[in-house]
Amino acid sequence: MAILPIRNCLDPVLRKKCDLIQNINQGLVDLSDDMIETMFDSYGVGLAANQVGISERLIAVDLGFKKENEKPEKHEPLIILNPEITSMEEEQMGQEGCLSIPEIFADVKRAKRIEVKGVGLDGNDLRLEAEGYLARAFQHELDHLEGKLFWDMLGKVKRDILKRKFKKWLKENE
Ligand SMILES: [Zn+2]
Repeated sequence: MAILPIRNCLDPVLRKKCDLIQNINQGLVDLSDDMIETMFDSYGVGLAANQVGISERLIAVDLGFKKENEKPEKHEPLIILNPEITSMEEEQMGQEGCLSIPEIFADVKRAKRIEVKGVGLDGNDLRLEAEGYLARAFQHELDHLEGKLFWDMLGKVKRDILKRKFKKWLKENE
């Protein structure tokens, strides 16, 4: 296992639609282990493969996160290949951040409850329901696979302010 460098939002890999995974091989299993370790290391609730530079439809989510701003008592990492949201219900407004856009947060509207389906690393179909903070995390990670970032959900004025803030942060932290 290894901690992988996380690409920031200026990296073009984060703007590209990720490819469907056709078969599960050892490389994918190793990538999943590394992504889970990377997610834990950066206290993330989720991580998409393109955030570590791999343009494939794979996400890691820590189901141990039950509430916003509350670190999990116990990690429950889940890997889903080719995830899809099959239903969305109601709305929620809440703060969102991204490991690829450090130190930037904004309120984003998302569905409150969702159903996700996909394939597990064992090759079996999986299906699960999530609500609240975890539902938000799944929507955020699935957006990554489409080449989208959370600030795309905001108006241009707001987004431009956050982009400037991020670039300033980057300059100070390079
Ligand atoms: Zn993100």
